[in-house]
Amino acid sequence: MARLPKKEAASTAAAIDLEAVAQERGIKYFLISYVDLFGGLRAKLVPTAGIAEMQKNGAGFAGFATWLDMSPADPDLFAVPDPSSLIQLPWNPEVAWLASDLVMGGKPVAQAPRQVLKEQLAKAAALGYEMKSGVECEYFLTNPDGSAIFDGADTAVKPCYDQSALMRQYAVIKEICDSMLSLGWGAYQNDHEDANGQFEMNWNYGNALITADRHVFFKYMVKTLAEKHGMRATFMPKPFINLTGSGCHVHVSMWGKNGNAFADPKGDLGVSQLGYHFIGGLIHNADALCALTNPTVNSYKRINAPRTVSGATWAPNTVTYTGNNRTHMIRIPDAGRFEFRLADGAANPYLLQAGVLAAGLDGIANERDPGKRLDINMYTEGHKVRGAKRLPLNLLDAMRALEKSRVLRDGLGSELVDGYLKLKTEEWNAYSRHLTQWERDTTLDI
Ligand code: ADP
Ligand code: MG
Ligand code: MG
Ligand code: MG
Ligand code: MG
Repeated sequence: MARLPKKEAASTAAAIDLEAVAQERGIKYFLISYVDLFGGLRAKLVPTAGIAEMQKNGAGFAGFATWLDMSPADPDLFAVPDPSSLIQLPWNPEVAWLASDLVMGGKPVAQAPRQVLKEQLAKAAALGYEMKSGVECEYFLTNPDGSAIFDGADTAVKPCYDQSALMRQYAVIKEICDSMLSLGWGAYQNDHEDANGQFEMNWNYGNALITADRHVFFKYMVKTLAEKHGMRATFMPKPFINLTGSGCHVHVSMWGKNGNAFADPKGDLGVSQLGYHFIGGLIHNADALCALTNPTVNSYKRINAPRTVSGATWAPNTVTYTGNNRTHMIRIPDAGRFEFRLADGAANPYLLQAGVLAAGLDGIANERDPGKRLDINMYTEGHKVRGAKRLPLNLLDAMRALEKSRVLRDGLGSELVDGYLKLKTEEWNAYSRHLTQWERDTTLDI
């Protein structure tokens, strides 16, 4: 479906009467939801009788009870639903899901992830650009307690694209893909990925806010439908240490009044100067960006990792870019776009897009030079490249880089960066206090 011009879309969204939509479509309940700083999906289930009031004033929450930098003494946090985001649950159409924007004391909440993304998109719009993106959300299907992959027969050393292992999960894969088709997302392929028990399903790219809302809903849908089929779906970056982890690659292009502004037949690999400046921004800001795109302790077991049993991790170790080659942080698979391979399944869908865009806008504003393209196998030949910047080795290094980053602080706002780092520091401290078996194994007899 063609997108409406911005002004028209905004007035249409405001004009959508959710109570009337409920009557028309047989909706009995609305999930008024928002995503907190750690990517947690929070909601109130609101009967149609309450929706008119909530559409106007929002659903009330105690912000401190979720991962937001708030206090128990703060007033109510209101989630005001965005009617244009409405998705009727394909597996339970009497319930409709709504993404929301957060308001407190009558003002937008500056640390709210969806708000942060909207502000980045507004900055791009002021330059005449719309960011369009696609995400590839890899996930594992495990047994209900998450301790092992669900399919005991899925044991091949190179399981990628394994037809039988894919088709043994046909019932659940089909239900998810059918759902995306019915929602008009342009779902176009499903496959078994490089780790045993790992899958990926792709749908078409679009406006980065729409992609982020769909990314949020996709995770909810996959987890819900997996549960229905007696399994558990996880987007954890590295649930099994010897297997390839779950990435969340982002494909990016910027569109202006003349179409795709990253496309230039005269540019190297068909990418424009604007595209290379955007890539330059990602290269310049990669270590700080990691705190958002690779936001958990576990994330650093996916990047910088030794070879997995399949032969490769498919995750980057260095801050480098290349053509159609999957061993670098950024790959240019095709004219007019690039793929950012750093992010993983734990990334907050809004902060992922917002972080990429903030770094890209910095690259454009400062005409950042991405350096030389490296057309080598970075896994086997990387050691020969002098001066290739390495990615942070753990979450704390990434957090320190974010703390020092003028670019991301100015771009994303101090409230977001400070609030995020405060909560992440508490998480890091909780992890540091945890005694591991590895410590006992290596230290007991010291
Ligand atoms: P791969 O596995 O080769 O990285 P996939 O087909 O799994 O690629 O995912 C590609 C993603 O990139 C899809 O979401 C697709 O819609 C998106 N995409 C394609 N062209 C563009 C573009 N010009 N701008 C942004 N995203 C794009
Ligand atoms: Mg109460
Ligand atoms: Mg893919
Ligand atoms: Mg993949
Ligand atoms: Mg990819």
